[in-house]
Amino acid sequence: MAHYHLTCLACGATHDDLETGFLLACPAAHPPALLRTQYAQAQIAIQPDLPGIFRYANWLPVRRILPRAPGPVVLQSTQFGAVLGLQQLYLVFNGYWPERGALMTTGTFKELEAPSVCARIPAQERRALVVASAGNTGRAFLHICSAQQIPAVIVVPAVGLPALWLTIPKAPCVKLVVLTGEADYSDAIRVGDLLAKQAGFFPEGGAKNVARRDGMGAVLLSFAEHTGSLPQHYFQAVGSGTGALAVWEMHARLLADGRFGQTPMQLHLAQNAPFTPMVDAWQRHTRDLPTMPEQAQRRLIQQTHAHVLTNRQPPYAIVGGVYDALTASRGQMYAVSNDAAQQAGELFQRLEGCDLDPAAAVAAAALIQAVQMGRIQPSERVALNVTGGGYALIARDYRQFAAQPDMTLTAADVAEENRLLGRLQTLYPLP
Ligand SMILES: *Cc1c(COP(=O)(O)O)cnc(C)c1O
Repeated sequence: MAHYHLTCLACGATHDDLETGFLLACPAAHPPALLRTQYAQAQIAIQPDLPGIFRYANWLPVRRILPRAPGPVVLQSTQFGAVLGLQQLYLVFNGYWPERGALMTTGTFKELEAPSVCARIPAQERRALVVASAGNTGRAFLHICSAQQIPAVIVVPAVGLPALWLTIPKAPCVKLVVLTGEADYSDAIRVGDLLAKQAGFFPEGGAKNVARRDGMGAVLLSFAEHTGSLPQHYFQAVGSGTGALAVWEMHARLLADGRFGQTPMQLHLAQNAPFTPMVDAWQRHTRDLPTMPEQAQRRLIQQTHAHVLTNRQPPYAIVGGVYDALTASRGQMYAVSNDAAQQAGELFQRLEGCDLDPAAAVAAAALIQAVQMGRIQPSERVALNVTGGGYALIARDYRQFAAQPDMTLTAADVAEENRLLGRLQTLYPLP
C-alpha cells in the first residue's frame, strides 16, 4: 500500500501520486487549489537511523532516501527570549551553526525542500527539473542536484547571482540560467514556466509541490520531536508563504497524531517593507492581493534588503493557500522596515551568537513588534523560524565557489517567446 496519497483541497478528489508521478495540481476543472498529502500512518513514526529529515520519511511524499539532508535544530533561547520577556522562546534554526548541531551548508531552510523534492522524483525520470529562484532556493537545488547528479535547470535574476555560491563543484547536468538587467524573481518564474513546458523538462512547481511543503514541515516536526509539544505562536518571514503553509499543514497532522497536545497555533508572518503585498491584503481581510502596476512593484522590491521575500505572485488566494491558513489560525501579519530588521538581526547576533539571513532578521523584528503590541503572553510557547543564518561560519569552515552561469538571458531575449525558446533549447546537447 502507498504510504501517502494526494487530496485536492477544492474538490476532495484523491490521487495516487506514486502511480501518476509528480502531480502538481488536480486535473479536474475548478478554481486553482493546492493538493495536500494524506499519510497512511496517522501517527508519525520517527526513524532516527535515516539521514536528516528522512527520519520523518513516513510523513514525506518521497520515493527514496538521500544520503544527506540535515534537519532543523530546535534551541531554547535564553538571551533573546530574556530580553523579550519570553520564558519559552524556541529558535527553530535552519542554517549552519555546527557548534549547535546545525549543518545546512547552503545556509537556509530551502535545504529542507530541495532533498524532499529530489527524493520525490520517479527513478525512471530522464527530463531536467526546472526551478525558478530569487537566490536561496537556487543555491539549495544547485547543491542537492549536484551532489545527487540530478539534471536540473536553475533560473535566477542577476540580483540573485551573489547568493549562488557552492561548497561542492556544480555538476555538469545542473545548468544555471541568469536573467540580466532589471529582471526580478517573478521574471525568473515566468522563464522557468515556459522552459518547463518544453519536451525534456518538467517544473518543480514551487508551493504546488507537496514535497516542497512537507519537506519544510520538518520545521514543526523537529519542534514537536524536541519539545514534545506544539507552539502557540509561530513566527516566520514570508515571500511565497510556502514555508508557513507547510508548518500550518503539519500542525493539523500533529494535532491528529494526538501525542503532542491540542494547542491551537497562531501564524505570525512578516514581509519586508516597502514590498508587503500579503500584509496589505490581510490587513484589509481580503483574498485579493493589491493590484499595482508592475513598474511600481519593481521599485518597491528594489528598496527591500530581503529579496527572497519579494515574490509578486505568492499562493495567497489559492484554495488552501496563505489567506486560508491565516484565516484558520486567526493569524497576524507584520510589515518590517529594513532598519528594524537590521537592528533585530544585530541584537540576535549579539545575544545568541550567530548571524542571520536578512529574511530571518525580518522574522526576529516581527517577534519584537508582536511582544511590544502585547500579542504574546510571557509564558506562551513561541517558535521563531530562523529560516537562514550562519553565513560567517560557512565562510569560516568551507571554500565557497561562485556558480558559473551556463546561459545569460537579456531583457530582449526574454521579451520574445520564440527567441527565448531558441536560446533555452541549446542548454543541453540535442540527443
Ligand atoms: C525563501 C526564504 C524565506 C521565505 O520563505 P517562503 O516559503 O517563500 O515564504 C524566508 N527566509 C529565507 C532565508 C528564505 O530563503
